[in-house]
Amino acid sequence: MPVDSLFDQLEPLLARVAKPIQYVGGELGATVKDWDAAQVRWALMYPDAYEVGLPNQGVQILYELLNEQDGVLAERTYAVWPDLERLMREHGIGQFTVDAHRPVAAFDLLGVSFATELGYTNLLTALDLAGLPLLAADRGDDHPVVIAGGHSAFNPEPVADFLDAAVLGDGEEIVLAITEVVREWKAEGCPGGRDELLLRLAAGGGVYVPKFYDVSYRPDGAIAAVVPNRPGVPATVRKHTVMDLDQWPYPRKPLVPLAETVHERYSVEIFRGCTRGCRFCQAGMITRPVRERSIETIGAMVAEGVKNSGFTEVGLLSLSSADHSEIGEIAKGLADQYEGTNTSLSLPSTRVDAFNVTLADELSRNGRRSGLTFAPEGGTERMRRVINKMVSEDDLIRTVSTAYSSGWRQVKLYFMCGLPTETDDDVLAIADLAKRVIEAGRKASGRGDIRCTVSIGGFVPKPHTPFQWAGQAGHEVVDARLRKLREKVKSDRTYGKSIGLRYHEGKPSMVEGLLSRGDRRVGRVIRAVWEDGGRFDGWGEYFSYDRWVAGTERALADEPVDLAWYTTRERDRDEVLPWDHLDSGLDRDWLWDDWQDALDEVELDDCRWTPCFDCGVCPSMGTEIQTGPTGRKLLPLTVA
Ligand code: SF4
Repeated sequence: MPVDSLFDQLEPLLARVAKPIQYVGGELGATVKDWDAAQVRWALMYPDAYEVGLPNQGVQILYELLNEQDGVLAERTYAVWPDLERLMREHGIGQFTVDAHRPVAAFDLLGVSFATELGYTNLLTALDLAGLPLLAADRGDDHPVVIAGGHSAFNPEPVADFLDAAVLGDGEEIVLAITEVVREWKAEGCPGGRDELLLRLAAGGGVYVPKFYDVSYRPDGAIAAVVPNRPGVPATVRKHTVMDLDQWPYPRKPLVPLAETVHERYSVEIFRGCTRGCRFCQAGMITRPVRERSIETIGAMVAEGVKNSGFTEVGLLSLSSADHSEIGEIAKGLADQYEGTNTSLSLPSTRVDAFNVTLADELSRNGRRSGLTFAPEGGTERMRRVINKMVSEDDLIRTVSTAYSSGWRQVKLYFMCGLPTETDDDVLAIADLAKRVIEAGRKASGRGDIRCTVSIGGFVPKPHTPFQWAGQAGHEVVDARLRKLREKVKSDRTYGKSIGLRYHEGKPSMVEGLLSRGDRRVGRVIRAVWEDGGRFDGWGEYFSYDRWVAGTERALADEPVDLAWYTTRERDRDEVLPWDHLDSGLDRDWLWDDWQDALDEVELDDCRWTPCFDCGVCPSMGTEIQTGPTGRKLLPLTVA
């Protein structure tokens, strides 16, 4: 059946909204395929504004990969701002894709990539605008199957009632596998309707279908059990791990935005996974083990990506880019190749060591030496032992001295506040550290205009990390510590003016905490907040803590649990966690022991250069920590 574009209805409204260009599509790299020639049609959503969503690598990779397949079509959709939402409701226009402005409701699948939980209310807006029932249970055979992916999908329970399915881990292989299941089921005439399709998807254990699992609760509010309610549905669902990144060299044709976006560069992921073992870092834990892309593939991808996009900046992405076993050669090779051109290279790395500065020097041959970011994360050595961020103060000072003496004028330091076991002193020590940094910078450069920016984020305990059992620090505690830190910095006459302090208040972290470690009951809260006008919760100008507090109280009035229960409460070892049936490959006992090590301030090294610590990932995934192309185990890099 032909599906008409909504553009004719949309276009007259665009003059009345902010940044209308974000809704028109037609970017370089965009693809519009013949609707009727496709057997399987995906709408891919990043549930935030276009300017944040367009550069998202996950969506770009799947978009390109799916559109390469015969008989498969993929289009993108983003969250519309409230000004357009109002007009769309007024004029009866549904959620649309930006590629061909087709109604999202007409697609077979709606894949939503959640990088953060604060996009959950935007999912509800999109479903509602699309004319889909909010609850998966109310959807019929003609509605798209709504599937979540991205890091937040490792605990999709708070949005479980709104999702038909969720997928954990790398998307490249599973998105094609899902496509084939849908294609086959449609070719057979859709036997058994939606239920049968979901059953087929769930049967292999690679797709989580929440409605096939019943959750029961104990009188005290904790979960009693999560059990499958259908034969053929496995008790646990596993994550997906692509082992050979060279086989998936995407994106090849990066999307070049027409409107301004948060990143405008060609990004190449140089490896996936991280085994440094920072205990707060969910991304590091859930993406284990390390898998490198080869230097040849990286070089080829950069050449092709730059040629196809015209971008003048190339970003070498990963969780800790300086850890690639051949990063020295990669940096030098790319710097040589692009020397004298207008292409600049960047390494968004936050590892604290002099080698990182050497790399940054190499990569900035073409550009300005403006700012370098390092992330000690904790203010004291004690705090850094707790979080397993092995950086000594002397290392940091040595590193920043190297940076300042090689011409960098701005050093940015990233910390977290509200970490487990943290005291006021751990946070106040950040000021002392920043002072030492300025002092070292003035000495190393012989200049007085040295600046150091201290950026502080609120810590939120995340599922599948050793801190999943920790009590989150309340926002009053975090705010009070940050206030004291600000006073300490401001009152310093010698250094205070050279230190820039950036932080956010603690309240949004409480909501992130609720949504990160919540269970299915939190879905009612999300809905209550959304009905009360909650949108774009990741944006300060839209976020309302009071709305979330009121929504939580209303939605959980009959439950023995509340906001504090989900956030500031420490969990016992035996408590069934909402995501225990979702297998990230990490051994639960290993995580618990690592949590105890954190409390005992015991550090753990990176398993790339020590014996395996049995975190469980490699054997349970049937994978192994990847060796470098030289055939040797990855080795720690030293100062060049
Ligand atoms: S199983 Fe061993 S080698 Fe593999 S990621 Fe875990 S600790 Fe490292």
